[in-house]
Amino acid sequence: MTALDERPRTRTRWEWHLFEADGWAHLYPVAELVNPRLELLRPWCLLSAPFPLEHDRPSIDRRRLPAPGAGWTCPACAAHFPSDTPLPQPEPNGAA
Ligand SMILES: [Zn+2]
Repeated sequence: MTALDERPRTRTRWEWHLFEADGWAHLYPVAELVNPRLELLRPWCLLSAPFPLEHDRPSIDRRRLPAPGAGWTCPACAAHFPSDTPLPQPEPNGAA
């Protein structure tokens, strides 16, 4: 056995939810899903977009989907799942 996990343990958790506006299931960060003050969420596929059009919460289905599936999963998000690619960190909101 080799020690593969030397990264900081601050990895973002993600969940699949249906975005009704485009009919695709996207990967959303759990930390954003559970924050009721956030009206606009950024799924995985928008993290590197220069001008992201965030997803509005009312259009995001509250039910978690268990797994991605062909035909209804956002291709960009599906390319990430379930790889172990290091995730972009959210921009810090000022110093602690
Ligand atoms: Zn997506």
